Amino acid sequence: MAKTIMVALGGNAIKAADDKGTAEEQLANVYKTSRELVKLIKAGYKLVVTHGNGPQVGNLLIQQEEGKSMVPDMPLDVVGAMTQGQLGYMFEQALENILAEEDLHIPVVAIVNQDVVSADDPGFKDPTKPIGPFFTKAEAEALATEKPDWVIKQVKPESIEKRFRRVVASPIPIDNTEIDVIRKLIDSGCIVIASGGGGIPVVRDEHGLHGTAAVIDKDLAGAKLAELIKADIFLILTDVDHAKLNYGKPNEMNVGEIRVDEMKRLAEGGDFLKGSMGPKVNACIKFVENGGNRAIITSLDRACEAITEGYGTQIVG
Ligand code: ADP
Ligand code: MG
Repeated sequence: MAKTIMVALGGNAIKAADDKGTAEEQLANVYKTSRELVKLIKAGYKLVVTHGNGPQVGNLLIQQEEGKSMVPDMPLDVVGAMTQGQLGYMFEQALENILAEEDLHIPVVAIVNQDVVSADDPGFKDPTKPIGPFFTKAEAEALATEKPDWVIKQVKPESIEKRFRRVVASPIPIDNTEIDVIRKLIDSGCIVIASGGGGIPVVRDEHGLHGTAAVIDKDLAGAKLAELIKADIFLILTDVDHAKLNYGKPNEMNVGEIRVDEMKRLAEGGDFLKGSMGPKVNACIKFVENGGNRAIITSLDRACEAITEGYGTQIVG
């Protein structure tokens, strides 16, 4: 049976560093990314794909704030769902068109997907993830009355006028609400795009599911989904070809194939920085510790080499 790869795509798969973020730019990047993904399909693998949504959510939140005197602004969970729809659409179209060019008849589907988090997650007590527009002191004070549930923190020095920003929790994903249908779609031969932007964060209580103001790390959500679908490989594609030791120093060194216990020991050294490589390494460790065979970190353009030749950082059990 064909092996399944759970691919987690980073920000550069959709938006290049110097892009404005227009729809045309995003679609062009999604096409480039999808061409790499189709190479994996041609190599005989089944794919499940997840992606980040940071820049897209950021821009949509600015639109909410700027337009709220004319039309109601949408809460963060709804904005997350909007980006899943937007990016899912782009990946569906790009993959469908490229597969058709290659005369491959594989259905592609993007789903709006919720991830369950715990209402008791420590992240909710001390939110740290900054999102959306920057505010002046006066704007921040007005928002404290208008949005009593928001936590706004100063994130830039006193000398900068717009120095306040909303912060939200980044809770750990514990379940994937649509997992049964995702499994059915994979089994029926579809390429599934799911859990975009880390999934829409929801909490479950005696009344059912409810959206919550949070952002789930997409690498952690990807690892959870990889575990739930029993993927053979969890592949994180970012803008660097390896996780590195002594990152940014003259004695910088690539981490190649490594056992999970050894990677855990290296991670304690702090070389994999907190808001970027750290969560990727942790997500890979989690996947392998929870029974996964192999987790890989490499760059988008080396994806094929990583799968067929063992290139990149390869964490094994
Ligand atoms: P993505 O958008 O793909 O999720 P991030 O920007 O969050 O990617 O993470 C990738 C970045 O992590 C790299 O561009 C690099 O700057 C940074 N990074 C931090 N620590 C390391 C490390 N030890 N090795 C390699 N890259 C690192
Ligand atoms: Mg990035």
